[in-house]
Amino acid sequence: MTIAGEKPRFTRERRTVRFMVEIFCRDHHHPTTGLCEQCDGLYAYAMARLDNCVFKDDKPPASSAPCTATRRTAGPRCAR
Ligand SMILES: [Zn+2]
Repeated sequence: MTIAGEKPRFTRERRTVRFMVEIFCRDHHHPTTGLCEQCDGLYAYAMARLDNCVFKDDKPPASSAPCTATRRTAGPRCAR
C-alpha cells in the first residue's frame, strides 16, 4: 500500500500503526497469518483516516503535528 507523492512522515505513521495493530492482534487474537478479520478492518479504517488527512488537509510544515494527534482539536481540518 504505497501512494505516490506521500509524505515520509505519513509513511512512517502508517508503518507504526501497522506495527501496533499487528502486535495487538498477535497478543489478543492469535491469528494464523497476519491480522485477523477484525484487526484488518481496524487497520483499514485507520489508514482511511490517515489518507483523509494526507489528501484533504495538506498542512504547511509550520503545523507539522501528525493528524492523529491533532484530529480531536483540529475539527473540520481532519474530521472528514
Ligand atoms: Zn486481531
